[in-house]
Amino acid sequence: MTDAVRHDWSLAELRALHDVPLLDLVFRAATVHRQFHNPREMQVSKLISIKTGACPEDCSYCAQSSRYSTGVGAERLMEKAKVVEIAARAKEAGVSRVCLGAAWRSVKDNDQFDRVLDMVRDVTDMGLEVCCTLGMLTEPQAKKLEDAGLYAYNHNVDSSEEFYETIITTRTYADRLNTLANVRKTGMTMCSGGIIGLGETADDRLKMLQTLAQIQPHPESVPINILSKVEGTPLAKNDDVPVWEVIRMIAVTRLVMPKSDVRLTAGRVKLDATAQALCFLAGANSIFSSETEFMLTKAVPSPSYDADAALLQALGLTMRAPFVNPHSPRAEELAEQIEARRTAPPTFCDRKEAVCAVA
Ligand code: SF4
Repeated sequence: MTDAVRHDWSLAELRALHDVPLLDLVFRAATVHRQFHNPREMQVSKLISIKTGACPEDCSYCAQSSRYSTGVGAERLMEKAKVVEIAARAKEAGVSRVCLGAAWRSVKDNDQFDRVLDMVRDVTDMGLEVCCTLGMLTEPQAKKLEDAGLYAYNHNVDSSEEFYETIITTRTYADRLNTLANVRKTGMTMCSGGIIGLGETADDRLKMLQTLAQIQPHPESVPINILSKVEGTPLAKNDDVPVWEVIRMIAVTRLVMPKSDVRLTAGRVKLDATAQALCFLAGANSIFSSETEFMLTKAVPSPSYDADAALLQALGLTMRAPFVNPHSPRAEELAEQIEARRTAPPTFCDRKEAVCAVA
């Protein structure tokens, strides 16, 4: 059975799945996708880089690492008003989730984190799912984000443990898993995946899926990025990933984590409409879209809101509303938590509307 929710995939099993003839694999993945998800819905997210550049980490693919000359400059933490403004336009465009990204090694307990918590509260109050990707996180910090209403925390494992050590040296795979464990101690959902095209083997990709599938329950969202080759980074001259390998990776991810959202993320802009449609058929049900036509920075392009609206319409897909995925690995638990948050008395005394509501 490939459609049962399992946490004990062996590498040999994954390899056998991976090597199924491509159209058979897509058919199997599409069948499982229809079993666990509404195939007419696409979850659409908008990334906002709230703190850009000057990151001390050495991730070999990243435009924001201070180790490489990529042309991406350092910026201060974005003002909340600007974040809310971008989120409002995203909501207008049908986006259900806003992801706030900061180029930090880890979260520090300072005024900057307090400002991020404030952003999370205000964007959540707009009726949008909020995700944060802020680097490593302690358990108390994860709890603070949860209390602020954060819906999801993103922290990618990137690749297999062995290959990871060849692309990042400033923090370990165990550090990454520790942050994910801290996220799992809260009621927030987890977003974790990786990148293909780093120079890894097929087995590295499968070992990454094996690691993610061991998490119980599976991450609610699994982003599969295609490397965006950024000039100035050590991976700028890597070979392109053949489109068939992208589709194969999406299909295997769908089969291995059937209830999770499979997110076709960075690098989607390189795929034409037909290739994207095949990825959606194979189980990708989540994308990033952008009014500015880039992801976190201009170094990584993204399809526009208008292009994606046209693509989804052509394929007969609609954008999923926020907070309504009934098929996520913890759907019932999350629905209860969201209802509890909605009906809980306001707790933030610095928010005028909250004070009015209890007065
Ligand atoms: S991927 Fe994140 S942690 Fe790594 S260099 Fe880029 S911003 Fe820093």
